[in-house]
Amino acid sequence: MQVFTRIDQIRNSLHSHRENNKRITFIPTMGALHDGHMSLIRMGQQNADITVCSIFVNPTQFNNAKDLQSYPRMLEKDVKMLEAFHCDILFAPDASEVYPEGLETRLHLKLGKLDQVMEGQFRPGHFEGMLQVVKRLLDIIQPDDLIMGQKDFQQFTLVRFMLSELGIPTKLLIAPTLREKDGLAMSSRNIRLSAEMREVAPVIFKNLEYLKSHFESMDVCDLSQEVMENLDRAGLKAEYVEIVDGDLLELVENPENHRNIVACIAAWAGEVRLIDNLYLKGGPN
Ligand code: AMP
Repeated sequence: MQVFTRIDQIRNSLHSHRENNKRITFIPTMGALHDGHMSLIRMGQQNADITVCSIFVNPTQFNNAKDLQSYPRMLEKDVKMLEAFHCDILFAPDASEVYPEGLETRLHLKLGKLDQVMEGQFRPGHFEGMLQVVKRLLDIIQPDDLIMGQKDFQQFTLVRFMLSELGIPTKLLIAPTLREKDGLAMSSRNIRLSAEMREVAPVIFKNLEYLKSHFESMDVCDLSQEVMENLDRAGLKAEYVEIVDGDLLELVENPENHRNIVACIAAWAGEVRLIDNLYLKGGPN
């Protein structure tokens, strides 16, 4: 695997691959890699010739300084994992490379409702920062495909919107959420869970399944409220439980009126904030 920290280096390398008509796929990450990330690498390899992964803990998408500081960083271990999975190129720039002084990288897209609900409500500015870094990385790498995980449902919905608004020709592919045996969605944040909270956390997925089996027969508001209470009773602190349209993120009242429906949960497990989601109807691709 080639590891680049500078833009000129990776651009040179990708230029020659492009000249040889190689299809390039890109998987952006913030590191502390786990099998969920590796499933994205695998999906990339199935669709393209050259797999590029980036590791960059993007400061502009953290609305909480403590969260940024405590975000796990383990580059050496990540490099070994990517090598074991035959990733072709790793781009691991530092912040001055991504955001050089004098370069305007902020986007001025009107995100409307997509940015106001769920994560947007609890993490102000998060999605603007996320789109800023994804756009910057896309400008640098110019991949044919971009692979993201269903785990971050609202994130990929906003990226899909950005690609369409800006007319970026990169194709977005969504990989299913990889879970631990007990249903907990794999996440870089899971290593920060206390032993007690690690025991409790799978209750999130259990409740997503509960939502799936009841959303057609119960009032959606009552059902969401019931799940909030279930999570709190189990020892988590639920931030939201919402059943939304899978494209517009509007609250679902009558399931029959929607092609895609997604149940989304955010909850604190002690000091760690977890998010997860499940398609109740339709799917992401
Ligand atoms: P992150 O490093 O958390 O920013 O995640 C990088 C990419 O990996 C994002 O597109 C995530 O949605 C995806 N991802 C994270 N966890 C999982 C998982 N458990 N299964 C599948 N994809 C995931």
